[in-house]
Amino acid sequence: MKVIRGMKEEIIMEKKGLLIVVSGPSGAGKGTICKTLARLNPDIKISISATTREPRRGETDGENYYFISKGNFEGMLQENALLEYAKVYDNYYGTPKKYVLENLEKGNDILLEIDIAGALQVKEKFQDGVFIFILPPSLEELKNRIVGRGTESEKDIEKRYGCAIEEIEQVIKYDYAVVNDDIERATKDVEAIIRAEKCKVTRVQDNIKSIF
Ligand code: 5GP
Repeated sequence: MKVIRGMKEEIIMEKKGLLIVVSGPSGAGKGTICKTLARLNPDIKISISATTREPRRGETDGENYYFISKGNFEGMLQENALLEYAKVYDNYYGTPKKYVLENLEKGNDILLEIDIAGALQVKEKFQDGVFIFILPPSLEELKNRIVGRGTESEKDIEKRYGCAIEEIEQVIKYDYAVVNDDIERATKDVEAIIRAEKCKVTRVQDNIKSIF
């Protein structure tokens, strides 16, 4: 980390990628937003989490998640290979550390789609991360979406919906809230947030330096 002195204020030099964390209740549409964002912006890398959850129909190992056993998950924990982890709806989920750190060092932006407990752990370690919460337009719509995607059992639907209110109350701990009443507009909002964050004075030191 370098510091340019002689300017009005010290500007911290950190040539790093942006760490973007996206959370929200199940059914808010964060998965679709993140996938669309990565498709439209190849410079944004998506972190693939490890999970002990069973793969759903259509999910592929190494693409959607690394589907691993509880024993292997515990092994990763012991090796300190996870940036954060949490137990969500009875399964363990965690972010492999190496991929995230390597990409940030290379200057690539990296996106983590993780739950709130995990996001708060990341916030402790990366204060300059960007924390975005995706909200549904209403609880009724949220339930319709969880039921409509048809990937969970009735018990799981109730569990996910039951957690939603408590989860939404945590929005205050995030930097930005995006209401997903229209997937295209919500994706554009997230894109705009990322673009604005990239223009923050503390992140454009190279450009500032080249002026002098
Ligand atoms: P799903 O089972 O629907 O794929 O994911 C359930 C929840 O786990 C979602 O809220 C998702 O954001 C969260 N999740 C996915 N990967 C991770 C991770 O690596 N860490 C944490 N803390 N949560 C995750």
